[in-house]
Order: sequence, then C-alpha cells, then structure tokens
Amino acid sequence: MNLMQWTDQELQTLARKGLRRELRQVRGRQASRIEINGREVLNFCSNNYLGLADDERISRRVSEYLMLHGFGAGASRLVCGNMDAHVALEEEIARFKGMEACLLFSCGYMANIGILSALLTRSDVVFSDRLNHASLVDGIQLSRAMLKRYPHNDMKALEGLLQHTSATGKRLIVTDSVFSMDGDIAPLDEIVTLAEKYEAAVMIDEAHALGVMGENGKGLAEHFGVEDKVAIQMGTLSKAAGTYGAYCCGSKSLIDVLRNTARSFIYTTALPGSVAEAGRCALEVMQEEGWRRQALADNITKMRQLLGKAGIRTLGQATPIIPVLVNDNEVAVKFSQQLFEEGILIGAIRPPTVPQGTARLRLTVMATHTPAEIKFVAETMVKIGKQLCLI
Ligand SMILES: *Cc1c(COP(=O)(O)O)cnc(C)c1O
Repeated sequence: MNLMQWTDQELQTLARKGLRRELRQVRGRQASRIEINGREVLNFCSNNYLGLADDERISRRVSEYLMLHGFGAGASRLVCGNMDAHVALEEEIARFKGMEACLLFSCGYMANIGILSALLTRSDVVFSDRLNHASLVDGIQLSRAMLKRYPHNDMKALEGLLQHTSATGKRLIVTDSVFSMDGDIAPLDEIVTLAEKYEAAVMIDEAHALGVMGENGKGLAEHFGVEDKVAIQMGTLSKAAGTYGAYCCGSKSLIDVLRNTARSFIYTTALPGSVAEAGRCALEVMQEEGWRRQALADNITKMRQLLGKAGIRTLGQATPIIPVLVNDNEVAVKFSQQLFEEGILIGAIRPPTVPQGTARLRLTVMATHTPAEIKFVAETMVKIGKQLCLI
C-alpha cells in the first residue's frame, strides 16, 4: 500500500466510525456570537470564558506595541529573542500567582511536553489521572518515566499506587485542575495530602482554571488554599485570558532548571513580544474586572440548573465546561448539527478525545452570555434532546 492509498483508507475508516472532523471557518470577532459559514450563531463552545479574546484594550495595547517593536522575536529566548515583554509578563504571572518564579512557553501543549520531559527521567515514576490532557500524556511519554495511571479522580486508587510503587528516583503526581472534557475538578486538597504522606511532588495544569477558579481567579490551587503545596503550577493564557501562550510557575531553582533543559523552550523561537504584551494586558483586565468571574459563575449556575431540571444528563460540577452525555458518536454529531440549524454552536466531542461510547456535546458558558441567551440555549437543547430520544 502506498501513502495515497493509505490516506484514502484512513479517511474512509474515520468517516465510517463517525469520527471524521472538518474545520469550520469563523469570520469576524471571536465573541459570544460569531459568524460561521456566513451565519451568525450563539457561541457556546469557546474557552474564552471571560470574553476577553476580542477585548479592545488588549487590541489597542498590542497595536501600540507592534508599532514600536515590530512583530517577530528573531530567535529563541536564549539566543537574542528575550524581549522586555517576555520578562514583564513572567514577573506579572509570578506576582499574581504568588510564586517565586515563572517561565513562559509558546503554548500549553509545548509547556507540558517541555516541563515533564525536562523534570522526569527513566528512573522516576509519575502518577497521572486517566483523563489528563493529551499534552500531559505526551510529555510523560517523552520523559520515559514509569507511568502509573489512576482512574479519574480516584483517590483510593492513587493511594494504592503510591503505596505499592517504588522508584529509585523522584515521584510526581500530575493532574488537570479542571478536566477539559468532563468539566469536573481534581480533588487537589486530597492529592496534596497524599503527596505529603508518600513523598511525591505535585504538578497541576490550570489551563481551564486560571481566571475561573479561586477567589481571585488564580486557579484551583487557590480554590483549595494549597498554593504552597503544589510545586509545579502550569497554566495557559489561551483560555479565560483570551490571548495566547502558557507558563510554568515554581521555585527559582525549578524554573532555572526548565530554562536550561526544557527542549520546547530552548529549541523554538520566542513568542512575539506583542503576544506576551497581550497576555499581560489580559491579566490586568482580569484582576480589575472581578465582575467577569462573577457573571461567569452566575451563568454556570443558571445553565446547569436549567438543563438539570429538564432531565438532561450533564457531567461535572461548577465549572464553565458543561458536557452533555450522548454516548453515540452519530447522535452527538446530529445533535450538534440540529443546534447549529437553530443558531447555536456547540461542538460534538468524540473518541479519541473522549473514551469510546462516551461521545458528548461540550457546552461552555461565557461571562458575556446574556440571561436570555442562556435560557434560549437550554430550551433548544431540551427540544432537540427530546426529538433524539435522549430525555
Ligand atoms: C488547552 C489545554 C492545553 C493546551 O494549551 P494551549 O495553549 O492551547 O496549547 C493544555 N492542558 C489543558 C488541560 C488544556 O485544556
């Protein structure tokens, strides 16, 4: 079989399983309403939780920066690409998170593969939640550390593994803060207790928690009051912060090691300074406008209540990610298509992103959705859910 035959066959296989994906094209602004294929729809599938992705203050700051400094960073940070904007953003993130030091990465995917492959070796063991994000899974594989996966959020199982696994090297527990496809949170309070008892370090991925969880939006570590017990705190600026880029916070020495050894930091061109400037502006707005987190929380409660009362099966808890379990791949796609016809954009999530037989709609709410929009979406979901015999 040659490559052409193989790719044709692959596509047919994907289509037969209802797993072939296509890109939709967005025109105009990235907001709570977006234009897709020439049609304006309500956007209920974005990670832009606080509505900052098209914030004019950020755009203005970036424009000003660009006119002064240009776009490209020219080289990696360690060569000559380390610009004022990168350093200023790292300082601001460290200050906001109350951590000693911070290192920027180009994106969350690169952060996770870089952090894990730099900090773990063949003689270490890593305990990883079964539903952790793909970038954590890939980072662990790259590190060649021994992998012990525990069932999702199962603390008994985690303790059993911690008890019965010995390693010559280090031990690390790794977890998402807010699980991106299930919309639930890790029991971080219990995880840090187990970590102390069994002498393991903890790494969290706050991608969906920064700006959302905790009294000041610092993330799940703040929510549980365990900020000083989580050695490696990674997060992204691409979700609630509405911009792009990712960070790792930790001790001075941890960050210094990463700066020297994380391959996805070293062997790549620095983020454009304007992107770092956008992130810093977004952090400022996030801190100034606490109403956004409050509005988001209100919308989460309202949407979960409306769906729950109508008998729709949702997963997760008090997070902006509200998965509606459908199970069958094709029914999930049909549900999503019918919603689109009603002017609502909610994506169907299928394997391999989620386990076989657990296809779902992944509905996300934003701070900028109006009460009328929340109500309309809930009612429309109930209507279609009934037509598809899901209720
Ligand atoms: C989105 C996401 C990432 C990747 O971040 P990007 O900046 O989009 O590359 C990593 N971890 C989790 C849990 C995520 O949801």
